[in-house]
Amino acid sequence: MMQHYLATKEAYKDCILFYRLGDFYEMFFDDAKIVSKELELTLTGKSCGTKERAPMCGVPYHAAETYLNRLVKKGYKVAICEQVEDPKTAKGIVKRDVIRIVTPGTNTDSQSLDESKNNYIMCIVYVADKYGISIADVSTGDYFVTEVDTERKLLDEINKYSPAEIICNEAFYMSGVDLDDIKNRQNICVSALEAWYFSDDTAVGTLKEHFKIHSLESIGLNDFACGSIAAGSLLKYLYETQKNSLAHMTSIHPYVTGKFMIIDSSTRRNLELVETLREKSKRGSLLWVLDKTKTAMGARTLRSYIEQPLIDKAAITERLDAVTELNSHAITREELREYLNPIYDLERLITRVTYQTANPRDLIAFKNSIHMLPPIKTLLNDFKSPLLIKIQEQLDALEDIFAMIENGIIEEPPLLMHDGGIIKEGYHEEVDRLRKAKTEGKQWLAELETKEREKTGIKNLKIKFNKVFGYYLEVTNSYKELVPDYFTRKQTLANAERYITPELKELEDVILGAEDKLTVLEYELFRTIRESIAAEVVRIQKTAKAVAHLDVLASLAYVAEQNHYCRPKLNENGTIDIKGGRHPVVEKMIHNDMFISNDTYLDNHKQRISIITGPNMAGKSTYMRQSALIVLMAQIGSFVPADSANIGIVDRIFTRVGASDDLASGQSTFMVEMTEVANILRNATSDSLLILDEIGRGTSTFDGLSIAWAVVEHISNPKLLGAKTLFATHYHELTELEGKLNNVNNYCIAVKEKGDDIVFLRKIVPGGADKSYGIQVAKLAGLPDSVLERAKVIVEELSANDISDIAKNIQVDTAGKKKKNQLDEVDMTQMSLFDTVKDDDIIAELGSIDISHLTPIEAMNKLYELQNKV
Ligand code: ADP
Repeated sequence: MMQHYLATKEAYKDCILFYRLGDFYEMFFDDAKIVSKELELTLTGKSCGTKERAPMCGVPYHAAETYLNRLVKKGYKVAICEQVEDPKTAKGIVKRDVIRIVTPGTNTDSQSLDESKNNYIMCIVYVADKYGISIADVSTGDYFVTEVDTERKLLDEINKYSPAEIICNEAFYMSGVDLDDIKNRQNICVSALEAWYFSDDTAVGTLKEHFKIHSLESIGLNDFACGSIAAGSLLKYLYETQKNSLAHMTSIHPYVTGKFMIIDSSTRRNLELVETLREKSKRGSLLWVLDKTKTAMGARTLRSYIEQPLIDKAAITERLDAVTELNSHAITREELREYLNPIYDLERLITRVTYQTANPRDLIAFKNSIHMLPPIKTLLNDFKSPLLIKIQEQLDALEDIFAMIENGIIEEPPLLMHDGGIIKEGYHEEVDRLRKAKTEGKQWLAELETKEREKTGIKNLKIKFNKVFGYYLEVTNSYKELVPDYFTRKQTLANAERYITPELKELEDVILGAEDKLTVLEYELFRTIRESIAAEVVRIQKTAKAVAHLDVLASLAYVAEQNHYCRPKLNENGTIDIKGGRHPVVEKMIHNDMFISNDTYLDNHKQRISIITGPNMAGKSTYMRQSALIVLMAQIGSFVPADSANIGIVDRIFTRVGASDDLASGQSTFMVEMTEVANILRNATSDSLLILDEIGRGTSTFDGLSIAWAVVEHISNPKLLGAKTLFATHYHELTELEGKLNNVNNYCIAVKEKGDDIVFLRKIVPGGADKSYGIQVAKLAGLPDSVLERAKVIVEELSANDISDIAKNIQVDTAGKKKKNQLDEVDMTQMSLFDTVKDDDIIAELGSIDISHLTPIEAMNKLYELQNKV
């Protein structure tokens, strides 16, 4: 056994091996040490032919899923080595084999997966400066492929799918991409596979075999040389780990990345699209507001809508038309949502069906779900919008499959598949006959019992059953004298004796034979039904997708109605014109409809950049995020929180907001901020929307102001970038740019002074803020009075050295050439606000020291003295 164990372990070196021994999965050696530590299990030992006992730990087989899932969540791969023959009939050592490998990206266990999220695995192949990318969700059968030519775009794809696991070729592993960030910060398990996975033979060969095709053209992959390798090697890896036919992976979807809005990872986080920045919870995110879906498939699809907004006007309009129509038939919409409600996760159910792991209860859940399809299809007949018509056509009522389960399987079957009690009466003659034999057998036994009692006069004679003797007659000692000759004694107990008779044994044969045959036959019939359903996988998956899209559109419509959203208009001339816009999440968080709506207007002419000033807490970042979210919502096809909105479709949204969450990455806040700004300036286009909050805050006032100033100049210049931008800043000096650049405008968020206090009006108005009210806000936050008083005094002194005068005199750089920044030329002595120590004095003093005459202690003292002056 140990030899077999070691040979198996050798073949699955990178996995933890769960080795089945009796009722346990055991782990040995290093595996045992790791698992006992990770799962807090007791480490024991087993003698294994060597001097020392092998470290060992185990988990009971019936509870193995839980342990396994915990290991996989921690990023381990687990190979399950199972007994593949019945230990009762096996000769010698029971044959064992690895039947499945579970990795973070290939786990299909419904208990461990979040049903509202896809569990993706991604394969990346880096060849000749191109990245082939393929993505699959084995639990649902989704399978995609694409290619990109830059690392940036690759990272965008990783962010979009946020897979649980990445497999790649060695070239990618060595390509210099920031693997630490992917592994540690994004928590993705990354491993390079051996080279043979990526050979043409393996990769393309596997694809051809799986899809039963001669050329890749038939599945639309002829223009995806590098992508095909990624798709093929991914499929090979799935075969290796799942060890089954993967019959549910019925199609592959090639796509080009330009089809969707690009949102980088920090923007995704900052806009809190699917989880909040701090708590990482869904509550408080855009998804939380928009998700009123009824099914797990709908929830996953809505998430992917939010993660990949569209940029094609026609495609967005199609969705908006569907939402509009669902709202004009609100009663039918609600009826549809009621029918959607009981529908289970058809995608993951059908995967279990094709994996042959679905149990009878799964099939009943499946049946009850598809029972909802015919009324949904009928209700959809009333709709005219192209997308809903498409959904209606794609949605198959699956009535034949319903009938198959309805006729064959009883309403409340047991969980276990091998104990019978699954098949409905009237479905199969032999089942009915055997069942009758079974029940009638019980009757016959009762009759025999009465007959023998009368015949022998043994009043308490009983027919009983146990596993060793089968059926027997039991006579207590008080009646021992009455036992007739034709009773054969089998066992003597303290107060009774047990007998059999030929007649009883005959009956037993009929009854037990019927029972055995029945369970085998029922299981066979159940499997046949399951296989017939598996054969319909394509129809079922297509229907599941239709249900998912319908669910999302109905949810968007419902949310739009509940929250009083409006249908956005779309344009392609780049104008963003939002009237009465609201922040979809903040408005839900504050009570009594207290949210103050605001307008946003940006275009490609005179209103390209809005500089937004106003004190802390005034609502600047809320305003900017709401503008970005409204644009994003419009582009996923949702209505938006506004009185009206005309949205010029944007190709990317970038945000630069606070960096506190990046502290863990080991870079300074300023470094993170500048890296992000660099990324934005390099990757944004004139069709992008930029949200920049407090650029330059992480360094000294002058450096910060200079950088912020130069960034605005750069963005505003159509020759260099010309992106639409909302730019919030503390530097009031930047408001000078309004007069200097023709497409920059000042806005501020109004506040009202009330004596020493301020009241936030939350209304955005043209013009720059005149004061920052920092001390008033600090007072609101509860800073001690003494500190506030002192701060006021210092502010007055500092204002004497106001730098706004300097800013007024800076010439802007509209040529877009490299030019020495005017700020550098400003007299620095004027800027040193706390200039009390003259460096020159210290230098002079240092120069005058006669080192050769100093004792060590005098030298120390001198140093100390000088240091105190710095
Ligand atoms: P700033 O970025 O100017 O410091 P925030 O945007 O963070 O300010 O806003 C501070 C708080 O003010 C928010 O958490 C929100 O509760 C409230 N707020 C912001 N905008 C509005 C608004 N338009 N209506 C009502 N409350 C708002």
